[in-house]
Order: sequence, then C-alpha cells, then structure tokens
Amino acid sequence: MTGDQLPSTSKRSGAPVSLRSVVKSFDKYRAIDDVSLDIEPGEFITLLGPSGSGKSTTLMMIAGFEQPDTGQVLIDGVDVTRVPAYRRNIGMVFQSYALFPHLTVAENIGFPLKQRGVGKSEILERVSRMLDLVQLAGFDARFPQQLSGGQQQRVAIARAIVFNPPVLLMDEPLSALDKQLRENLQFEIKRLHDSLGITFIYVTHDQKEALVMSDRVAVMNEGRIAQIGAPETLYDSPASHFVASFVGEANFLKPDAITADAKGAVIRIGDATLRTGGPNGAHDGTLCMVRPEKLTVRRPGGGADASVNMLQGTVRDTVFMGEMIRYVIELPNGALMTAKQPHRAGTPILSQSEPAAIEWDVADTRLV
Ligand code: ADP
Ligand code: MG
Repeated sequence: MTGDQLPSTSKRSGAPVSLRSVVKSFDKYRAIDDVSLDIEPGEFITLLGPSGSGKSTTLMMIAGFEQPDTGQVLIDGVDVTRVPAYRRNIGMVFQSYALFPHLTVAENIGFPLKQRGVGKSEILERVSRMLDLVQLAGFDARFPQQLSGGQQQRVAIARAIVFNPPVLLMDEPLSALDKQLRENLQFEIKRLHDSLGITFIYVTHDQKEALVMSDRVAVMNEGRIAQIGAPETLYDSPASHFVASFVGEANFLKPDAITADAKGAVIRIGDATLRTGGPNGAHDGTLCMVRPEKLTVRRPGGGADASVNMLQGTVRDTVFMGEMIRYVIELPNGALMTAKQPHRAGTPILSQSEPAAIEWDVADTRLV
C-alpha cells in the first residue's frame, strides 16, 4: 500500500481491460456468446442492454466472480481468467448497496483498507478524503440505515474506490433510486470518473443513462455485443434495427422498394421517394429509420428541395408539452410516425385530423 497516491490528490491512470472470445453457459444456455471487447485505460464504458442480455454476467467475469467456459479476461495486459476475485484488486458497486449494517459510514468505507492491513491513521485520512469526494463530510459516525438511498450508494462508491483500484465496476448502481436523484448521481459519477481517471465499467438497461455518462457504449443483446461506439455514433448510425430501437426513439418505415442510383439508395413508400444519408446496404427486411426530433411538421403546400425527404399524412394526435409539440401522424399506407417539434414562434401547431407535410433532412435518414 505504501507509495500509493490518493485519488483526490493525483490523477491515476486506469488499467485497460480486454475480453477475448469469451463464452459462458449456464446449463445449456449460452448467456455470453463469444464476446470480445477492448476497454481503454481510463475509459468510461457502459454495457447497455435489456434484462437477460448478459451485462451482469460479463461484469462478474471481469470481477472474477464468474469464470468463462472459454476465452480470456485481461486486466492491465495480464491474463486473469483464472485469478480469483479477491486478487484482482477491482472496485465494485451493485444495485443493492450491500453496506455492512453494523458498521458506521467511516468503518464501511475503511473496510477494504483494514482488510489490506493499512495502518489506522492512514485509514482515517483516506476515509476522510473519500467522504469529501462523495460529498458526505460529517456523516462518518452514522450507520447505513440512517442514510437515504442516494447517500448509501455514495458510501458504497467510496468503499469501492478507497483502495485505489485501477478499475471500477458498477452494476445498475442507480436503478433503485428515484428519477431526480438518479440524474444528480449520474453527473456525480461522471465527475468522479473525471477526477479519478480510472477505468469505469458501468452496467445499465437505461439508454439515457448510458448516453449521458459514457465515453463508449456497448449495446448487448442475447449474450452478444450488437454494437459498440460513442453515444453519438450509436444514436446517429445504429448498425441494426435492434440498436436503433433500443437507443433513443425511432420511426421505422417499411419501404415498398429499395433501389440505388449514383447518389445512393432510393426508397419508395407509396408515391413518395426518400433518400438516405448513411450506409446504403439493404438486406431482407430493411427498414428506413428517422428519429422523431429530426422531423418538421407543417401544413402541406410548397415544394421540398433535394436535401429533404418529404411525406404527406394526417395528424392523428397533437400533444402540447411545453418545450415541444409531440405529433402522431398517419401516412396514407396506415403507418404512424411520431414527430417532436420544438415549440417556437412562427411554427404553427397543427390540430388533430389536419393534413400535414413531414420533412426531414436526407442526412438524418438511415437504413437499418
Ligand atoms: P443482465 O444483467 O443483462 O440482465 P445476466 O448477465 O444477469 O443479464 O443474465 C444473462 C442470462 O444468463 C439470463 O438469461 C440469465 O437468466 C442467465 N443467468 C445469469 N446468471 C445465471 C446463473 N447463475 N444461473 C443460471 N442462469 C443464469
Ligand atoms: Mg443484470
């Protein structure tokens, strides 16, 4: 322990973490189906996916609480696949706070240091720094049951980083908290990541949380990584229908025909022609995708220029939400599109059953 830098006084570098062709089955069920992943030192990466997609199992294999059937786990370049959890020196925070109820806040936070044989005065000093870092100065003598859920989770985080681990794993740490607190803590955890500089591997099923917090997001589905990338990349260029529908809100239009010309894909829906801005590979069941906030809803009439896609429809629902108007618009083929229109002077609000023209940029159109 001696010579260790305290996280609040100096920026430590995190360790890289890699998974190589990891497979993990429970009985006959492949919970993790050939996952490879390279996490950069100091990165904030989030595993995002629906329940049962394999997020926790992946985290448990990095922590050492589960072992892969085949494949390797590397931490800081070292193969730790067969190294037990207690020798990996990794911090971990779970959804349930898992604090020791009979220990005070200070004793909870100091516990990993005591286990590692750190001297009393150093424990006191480090615990006090941790309390400052998670904004719980003055709470040291309280017991967990005297704290709110958010405060308990801050203690759990402090306990997970007090021993300066190069990697911190967090499994849905905020999902037991109410919305407001969750949003506050998202920013606190992000700030903590910035000040510590260690590698954060975060698990959530909440796509907004993943977008807000992460350098990169790995979207998981059925034990595989469906796509990995920066939040903007996943949002703007989803690689599949699954990613497009799991990350953000999306309209999917079923083309009657897709052809191609020199400028790219040409999508026919009824008597309308749409063009795309992204990759143009069409496959069986290809859908045309556009996000609701990309759409402009106006009264019909006037032409559209070549950089814009346009469809005609009928307003089925108008909801005034303050900062925006949310429309549901029915196309001639019966398909429904959702539009989120910023509420601005000069933008008319169309009412139910009015005819509408929907326009959006060709560059905001994707095939998935
Ligand atoms: P997530 O965290 O994404 O919700 P998990 O990693 O917990 O998903 O689980 C992935 C799959 O593996 C699920 O189908 C789950 O039921 C199964 N699973 C996880 N842990 C066990 C276990 N210890 N025994 C049997 N099945 C398990
Ligand atoms: Mg889980």
